[in-house]
Amino acid sequence: MPDTQLDLLGNLQRSQMCGTLTASDAGKTITLMGWVNRRRDLGNLLFIDLRDRTGVVQIVFDKESNPVLHARAGGVRSEYVLAVVGTVKRRDSATVNKNLSTGEIEISATELRVLNDSKTPPFSPSEQAISNEELRLKYRYIDMRRPEMQSNIEMRSRVSLAIRKELSSRGFLEIETPFMTRSTPEGARDYLVPSRVYPGSFYALPQSPQLFKQILMISGFDKYFQVVRCFRDEDLRADRQPEFTQIDLEMSFPSQDRVFEVVEAFLVAAFREAGVELKPPFPRMKYDDSIRRYGIDKPDMRLPAMTEVRDVFTEENLNALSLDPLLPVVAVRIPKVGELSRKERDENKQLFATRPPAKVIDDLKRLEKSFPDSVAKLTALCEAEPDDLLVLVAGGCGPDRSGIQARKASEAVYTSAGAIRLAFAQKYKEKHGAFAKRGSADDYRFLWVTDFPMFEFDEKEARWNAAHHPFTSPHEHDFGKLLSDPAAVRALAYDIVLNGTELGSGSIRIHRQDIQKQIFNALGMSDEEARSRFGFFLEALEYGTPPHGGIALGLDRIVMILAGADSLREVIPFPKTAKAVDLMVDAPTPVSPAQLRELGIHVKS
Ligand code: ASP
Repeated sequence: MPDTQLDLLGNLQRSQMCGTLTASDAGKTITLMGWVNRRRDLGNLLFIDLRDRTGVVQIVFDKESNPVLHARAGGVRSEYVLAVVGTVKRRDSATVNKNLSTGEIEISATELRVLNDSKTPPFSPSEQAISNEELRLKYRYIDMRRPEMQSNIEMRSRVSLAIRKELSSRGFLEIETPFMTRSTPEGARDYLVPSRVYPGSFYALPQSPQLFKQILMISGFDKYFQVVRCFRDEDLRADRQPEFTQIDLEMSFPSQDRVFEVVEAFLVAAFREAGVELKPPFPRMKYDDSIRRYGIDKPDMRLPAMTEVRDVFTEENLNALSLDPLLPVVAVRIPKVGELSRKERDENKQLFATRPPAKVIDDLKRLEKSFPDSVAKLTALCEAEPDDLLVLVAGGCGPDRSGIQARKASEAVYTSAGAIRLAFAQKYKEKHGAFAKRGSADDYRFLWVTDFPMFEFDEKEARWNAAHHPFTSPHEHDFGKLLSDPAAVRALAYDIVLNGTELGSGSIRIHRQDIQKQIFNALGMSDEEARSRFGFFLEALEYGTPPHGGIALGLDRIVMILAGADSLREVIPFPKTAKAVDLMVDAPTPVSPAQLRELGIHVKS
C-alpha cells in the first residue's frame, strides 16, 4: 500500500460534477471530488484528469504559483480519490481538447485533499475495456468505473424508470412476488434453497412469477407489473444469465390487442431514453407464416423474406434434380452479395446445418444451364437484382411421406432455409449492409409473432410438451383437437421479436379449471401429478377466475440493444460468467460441514 498522508473531508462539499463543467462556468470557484484518471507531469506544470460519474476534467497545478500544492499533487497516483478546490479557467484556443466534453476549460487548483489512496489497479479505467473479461469481472468495481459501463448502467436505470412510469400511468400496480417459492412452470431446471426448519424440503427460486401473477388476477388486481429477477438453471449460452430481469405483466379481461398496445407503449418510452422514436403499432405475423417465410419463429426482418419457388419447376425438373416434388422449394435471397466462388461455396457448407431431407442448391449458374426458364422465372419471382445472392433449399427424395412425416419434412426445408438465411446474413453483413445502424427507428424492426402451436413433440421422451407453458389458452376453435391432433392446436401465445431476437413471450391464459385439466391430460399428466405440482393453483382457479393474459420481456436484452452492447454482461452490474460463476464474490462456494449438518444435507464426494 503506498505511503500517503490521507486528508479528512472536513467541511468540504462537492459543488459540481466534473463532466458537467462548461465554458459558462469560467471564473467560478468550485469543489470537485473524484478519481485520478490520468496524471501528466511536465515539470513546472502538473495535470491531473479528475473523473467522476459524469466525466473527466483537467486540473492544473502550477509550481510557480503554489509550490506546496504542486508537490502534493506530485504524490498522487492513478485512482486516488481527491477533493480539489479551484477556479474554472477557459483554455486558450491552442490547448482546447476537442475530444473531451470539458475540453474548453481547466481547473486551476487552489486546494488539494487526498481522501484515499489506491493500489495500482489491475487495469486502468481510463482505457478501453481489456480483452481479459475474467479480470474485468473479478475487479468489477474498477471495470464499472469505465465511462462505457457507467453509461450502460445509467441507461439501464433510465430505461426501467421509463417503463415503470409508463405502466403506472396506465394504472398498473407494481406488486412483489416471493423469491422463495415452489417450482414454477417455465420448464427449465430450478435453483433450490434448502429449508433448515424442514430438512429434506426445498424452496425453489422462481423461473418467473407466472403463477403468482395469475393469482393476483384472481385476487382482483387487474393490472399487475413487476421488474423482477427470474432464476433458471440452464446450460448457459452467450446471451443467457442464470438470473435475469423481466418486465413482467398481467391484465384481467384483456384482448391480445390490449396486451400488444401496452407493451408497444412502454417500449416507445424505453427507446425514447436512447433517443429512438419508435412508431407503433408493430407488424404482426402468424407463427406458420413466420416459418414459411423466414424459416424461424423470430424472423430478422431487416433482410428479405424467403420465396416459395416450387411452381417454377415441373415435376420432371424436380425428379431430374432428385428432389421431392411434394416438398417446398424455397429461395433465400441476400442482397448485394454477388456470385460465390467454388471455394466460398465449399467453405459455406460449414456454416449451417441442414436437417434431412433438406438439400441446398447454391450454384444457380449451373442450374441455369439445365433449366434456364425456371431460373429466369424464380429470379423474377424473388425480385432479385443481378448482384443478389440466391440459394435454393428443397427436399431430397425419400420414402412416401404423409401426415406428420410430410409436415416434418417440409418444416425441415423451411427451417434449413431459415438457418442458411441467418448464417449468410451474418457472414455477408458488410456486403448487404442491412445491419448497419443509421440512427433511426428503422434500425429496430419489431414484429409480433402470434398463433404459436400449443404443443411441441419431445422426440426423446416421446410425448407432447407445452410449447409456451401449460397455462396458455388454446384457440377456442381448436379445443376439439386437444387429444385427437395435438400438433394442430394453436395457442393464444405471442412473442415480441426485434431484429431476429426474441424479446419476450406471453399468452392469454386458461381461466377455466375444466380446460386446464384437459390441457394437463393432453400433456400426459395425471390428475394426481397435476395436483401435486400445481394443486394450490388449480384450487385457486375454482374461485371465480377472470379471463386474463400477459407477457414478460427481458430487460437485460432491451438495455443491451439500446446500449449497443454485444453481451448481456455489459449491462448487468454483477453478472455471472458463462460457467455460472460470480468471479468477484467467488460464488458458488462449498459451505461448512456445520451448515450442511444444520440443513440435513450430506454431499457425496
Ligand atoms: N412467464 C412467461 C415467461 O417467463 C411469460 C408469460 O407468459 O407472461 O416466459
